[in-house]
Amino acid sequence: MLKLKNVRQCFMPDSLQEAVDILRDSQGKAAIVGGGLDITVFPRPYIEKLIFLDKLHLNYIKEKNSEIRVGATVTITDMERSLLIKNYLRGRVKEILGEVASQLLRNQITIGGSIARGHPYSDIIPLVYALRGRIVLSDGKDDEELLIDDFYRENFRELLKNKIVTEIRLKKYDDSYRFGMKRFVRNATDIPLLNVALLIKVEKNIIKDASISLGSRPGIAYRFIKGEEFLKGKKITKELAEDFQEFTEENVDVGGDARLSKTYRKHLAGVYSKNILLNLMEV
Ligand SMILES: Cc1cc2nc3c(=O)[nH]c(=O)nc-3n(C[C@H](O)[C@H](O)[C@H](O)COP(=O)(O)OP(=O)(O)OC[C@H]3O[C@@H](n4cnc5c(N)ncnc54)[C@H](O)[C@@H]3O)c2cc1C
Repeated sequence: MLKLKNVRQCFMPDSLQEAVDILRDSQGKAAIVGGGLDITVFPRPYIEKLIFLDKLHLNYIKEKNSEIRVGATVTITDMERSLLIKNYLRGRVKEILGEVASQLLRNQITIGGSIARGHPYSDIIPLVYALRGRIVLSDGKDDEELLIDDFYRENFRELLKNKIVTEIRLKKYDDSYRFGMKRFVRNATDIPLLNVALLIKVEKNIIKDASISLGSRPGIAYRFIKGEEFLKGKKITKELAEDFQEFTEENVDVGGDARLSKTYRKHLAGVYSKNILLNLMEV
C-alpha cells in the first residue's frame, strides 16, 4: 500500500448503495478493492479513495437455481477449496484453479477483481467464458446480469464507473458435459502466455455442444466460435482431435508479442486444443 501515495481516504461501506455512491461521486478518483493485488502492484497515481467491500457479505459460494453463485470477494483459494467447486464438472475447475499463479497470489486474487480488471493474461476470464458465466453488477439499487461475452462487448470500464461486480454465476452442468483447461507458463508461478478452456456436451460419443475460449493471446480472452462450430455434431475420436489441432492453428485469432511469436502461439493453441479434447475422450 506504500505505493498508493495519493490515497487520502479509505472507506468500508455498510451497503452497496453507499459503496456505489462513493464510487460515482469520486469521478474516477476512487477504486474498489478486491484482493488489492493489482491496485498495489500497478498503482494508479490519480487514485485518492479506496473502497473496501469487506462489510458487504460478498464472500460466499452457494448453489441456487441450478447455478453456482460466487460472491465478488471470493479468492481463487476460497473457490478452489469449496465443496461445490470440488464436485463441479468432475473436479476439473478445481484442478485448474490450483494451477493459477502461486499459493500466496491465489490467496489474494478475488474473482470480482479478476473480472473487473480484465487483464489479457487472466485465467479466470477464459474459465468463466468457457463456462458461459454471467456477471452480476449492482448500481446500489438494482442488479444487472450480463453474459460474460456481453460484459466485455460493452465498454466494461465505463460500466464500472457506476457499478460494482457483486457475483459470478456459473451454470451447473449435467454429466454429459466435460470440461478441460490448459495454461502455458514458463514456470509454475508465471502469468500464462496462452490459455485454452473447452467445455463440451457429449452424448453417445457425439459432441452436441461446445464452448471454447482462449486467453493471453496476447489480447483479452475471447470465445473461439469457429472452433465450437467445427466440433458440434462430430464424433469424439483421436482423428477428430488431430483435425481440431489443424483447424485451430488455421482459424484461431491469436497474435504475437515480445514473449511469444504469433506462429508459436497458433501452434500452441492447436496442440492444447487437441490435448484437451484427447483428455476429454477418457472421461
Ligand atoms: C504478480 C502477478 C501475477 C499474476 N498472475 C496471474 C495468473 O497467473 N493468472 C491470473 O488469472 N491472474 C494473475 N494475476 C492477475 C490478477 O488476477 C489481477 O491482477 C486481479 O485483478 C487481481 O485481483 P484482485 O482481487 O487483487 O484485484 P484488485 O487489485 O483488488 O482490483 C483490480 C481492479 O478491479 C477493480 N475491482 C476489484 N473488485 C471489484 C468489484 N467487485 N467490482 C468492481 N471493480 C472491482 C479494482 O478497482 C481494480 O481496478 C497476476 C497479478 C500479479 C500482480
